Amino acid sequence: MSASARGAYEAILRRQSARESAARTYARALPIVPVRARGLTIEGADGRRYLDCLSGAGTLALGHNHPVVLEAIRKVLDSGAPLHVLDLATPVKDAFVTELFRTLPHGLADHARVQFCGPAGTDAVEAALKLVRAATGRTGILAFTGAYHGMTAGALAASGGAPDVRVARLPFPQDYRCPFGIGGPQGVELAARWTESVLDDPKSGVPHPAGMILEPVQGEGGVIPAPDVWMRRMREVTAARAIPLIADEVQTGVGRTGTFWAVEHSGVTPDVMVLSKAIGGSLPLAVIVYRDDLDVWPPGAHAGTFRGNQLAMAAGTATLSYVRENDLAARAATLGTRMLDQLRQLGRHFACVGEVRGRGLMIGVEFVAAEDDGGGDFDAGIRDGAAGELDEPGEPAPVRGPGVAFEAGATATPAPWSEGPRPAAPDLAAAVQRECLRRGLIVELGGRHASVVRLLPPLTISDEQAAAVLDRLADAVAAAATAHTGGPPPPRRSNAASPRRGQDERAQKAGWRGD
Ligand code: PLP
Repeated sequence: MSASARGAYEAILRRQSARESAARTYARALPIVPVRARGLTIEGADGRRYLDCLSGAGTLALGHNHPVVLEAIRKVLDSGAPLHVLDLATPVKDAFVTELFRTLPHGLADHARVQFCGPAGTDAVEAALKLVRAATGRTGILAFTGAYHGMTAGALAASGGAPDVRVARLPFPQDYRCPFGIGGPQGVELAARWTESVLDDPKSGVPHPAGMILEPVQGEGGVIPAPDVWMRRMREVTAARAIPLIADEVQTGVGRTGTFWAVEHSGVTPDVMVLSKAIGGSLPLAVIVYRDDLDVWPPGAHAGTFRGNQLAMAAGTATLSYVRENDLAARAATLGTRMLDQLRQLGRHFACVGEVRGRGLMIGVEFVAAEDDGGGDFDAGIRDGAAGELDEPGEPAPVRGPGVAFEAGATATPAPWSEGPRPAAPDLAAAVQRECLRRGLIVELGGRHASVVRLLPPLTISDEQAAAVLDRLADAVAAAATAHTGGPPPPRRSNAASPRRGQDERAQKAGWRGD
């Protein structure tokens, strides 16, 4: 890159940090200036290319600028159709609703209503809460530990980090950090019983609620899939007590987890579904769909100026039908299973990997303090510069640790919860994210302790691209773990296999290296 181009790009980043809010988020960990993008790849103003496994926080089911999405947007632009229509009927909207209803779980599709909301997921969550309160005449909401539903008042109140008197918090089952310390089916059973007892105990302090809201896979909470059996229990528990069940599929929808909607894994039909992100085909769009007998709220109960985004509806229709026609949900299931297997192999080489989990192409790797360092002074490694500031973002960096090749046939790891969780290592996770960026890989951080590296690649990612992603991630983990321990990362069980066998070849083939 020429000196003047580098100067211009650095100036943009400097102006951003001088002018934008202290509350900005992704921009802090990802100091890049995207100028072009296609599929999985983003090109920065610095001329470097990145594999984008953040995908607009899970929005880009088809990756950046997919041809069918661009064509759909162009068609609306060229047609002279009005771009702003409030919530009036249009052919574009009509086509969107038809395609959306075609995808809905059985049991909801036949008698569903849709409410178009302000264009963010959080506004659709607000609408869902308002709807069930209007329909039941009750106010309380049941929500779960670790949940994330958005940033507006009601959605935030239902999220794990912000208690609200109208929201009763119940345990979300998970193995690695099981609230009951046992994990597995027993942990699930106890979580379900806790919910039942709260509802049935007249002195629980929780009045009969207006609804229950849950994520079929907690995303921001650390990529924690709800067990299918627990999902069915929550359906039974709520149905038996006339409590509407709200599934927040803002992040899990449109094939992401291996079925078109994540509730389909368990066969559960919710009463309300909250949808956003991928349904707009990369543009802002949010709706709720719900059983028509809940539709008793008055006109204007949930208004908003920007509920008629025609470009988003056209992009959304194209995305929904492309995912459906090409069965990208099945592709996400197959590839996701393979990537999870390979990441679990990686985890066996690094004591700092606490758990690898996910469903479909919604994948998380939780980083923890390694067994032998008791939490250690990981920051020292960062301060020493071993995994610190970015010097050449996007440039494949040298492997610092022994590296890992993914091989089949590794021995089974004991269930993670059988060892008990080790302390979360958010600094290490952040270092892995930085090392990924140095290697031209964009990943997300999340989880209750910000210790989970998350992958949300587009459903269109090829096998070769997936291999390149995993290679870069493996290199990044090795580098960050080396910095953490001040030496090669301690192998966990089996010996690390040959360092980068095949990695460069695969990356080269996929077109990500050697640019
Ligand atoms: N619900 C879930 C499950 C989410 O993951 C998010 C955002 O990540 C939201 C709601 C809020 O969506 P938005 O950021 O568009 O308001």
